[in-house]
Amino acid sequence: MKIETLAIHAANHTDGSTAAVIQPIVLATTFERDKDGGYSKGYSYSRAGNPNRQALETVLAVLEDGAEAAAFSSGNAAGMTVFQSLKPGTHVIAPNDMYHGLRNQIKLLFTGILELDFIDVTNEEELTAHIKPNTGLIWLETPSNPLLKITDIKKVVAIAQQHGIKVACDNTFASPLGQQPLILGADIVMHSTTKYLGGHSDLTGGALITARKDDWWERIQHIQQMGGAIPSPTDCYWLVRSIKTLPYRMRGHVQNAQLLAEYLEQHPNIEQVLYPGLPSHPQHELAKAQMLNFGGMLSFLVKGGAEAAEKVLNHLTLFTPATSLGGVESLIERRAAIEGPDTKTPQNLLRVSVGLEHIDDLMEDMEAALKLV
Ligand code: PLP
Repeated sequence: MKIETLAIHAANHTDGSTAAVIQPIVLATTFERDKDGGYSKGYSYSRAGNPNRQALETVLAVLEDGAEAAAFSSGNAAGMTVFQSLKPGTHVIAPNDMYHGLRNQIKLLFTGILELDFIDVTNEEELTAHIKPNTGLIWLETPSNPLLKITDIKKVVAIAQQHGIKVACDNTFASPLGQQPLILGADIVMHSTTKYLGGHSDLTGGALITARKDDWWERIQHIQQMGGAIPSPTDCYWLVRSIKTLPYRMRGHVQNAQLLAEYLEQHPNIEQVLYPGLPSHPQHELAKAQMLNFGGMLSFLVKGGAEAAEKVLNHLTLFTPATSLGGVESLIERRAAIEGPDTKTPQNLLRVSVGLEHIDDLMEDMEAALKLV
């Protein structure tokens, strides 16, 4: 079946007891034992499992072509679980421009427990030079945030496999509709489901999807169920509901982002546009080969520095200045301002999560704001 059909049907079954076409929300924290003390219906306690979470994990695994999925209360909770699952002393290679919130958290909590190296993983020589006998994980995020750099997943996997290293990939920016890292050889995919999968800026969640059920995955499931950073049944329900329209929403995001990127690129007040769908993107050919589409995220650099960028941002009316991405409404952010003093992000860079408004309205709004600089 095609992904549009799977997104609607993989998780949803008519409820046997009521014939409701949509799965009901099961709020119970505990489930009745059988006479022999067992749990023949498969559920015992909410932290360990819940029918709505089960449905969500089923559709997530299908979307990423994985063996199984684990849902979490946030993207960072999902990401942290991967690092918690590693044996102390493991060496980890991660991108120097990975999502700063997760990078700061793993630096804070795992320095002294794991060996962490943040490097340019798009550079093959640099990556190979950093591999050590105790390297256990290469963490990827592609396209990267906010520079939209593309990492060649297949190439990294080939290098990793020569050394018995696992590869995990944060696929939040692309969504499963834009890229399927497990098919390209990654071992685990991570999502902040707060973004495109939720799609309406109204829930927080995360997910890990595994290529195979192995010992590593068992450890990850153990951390999910014992650590308890799980989503509520209601959030699982809303995510399952949102995922049904994900393929169609992604088409709109991608179409609008491409048109907006092309418009911005020819604007005299713009220094540079970073969007993998533009032939000017240094890794456009790689993106074409690796991705199913170029996604709904773009960044652009305004001529005139931080001040000019702020002026544009503050004059826009349809692009809401706010963090996060992947919702139906367009959001914009000057990333350097929120990433702190050690940021390498250019001060005049504005990152846009292109929403599903009509492109004519988005361009008109942008045109009016860019006139000011
Ligand atoms: N990964 C990426 C690429 C993100 O942009 C974010 C959030 O902005 C996260 C992970 C963390 O997700 P959450 O905010 O759901 O914890």
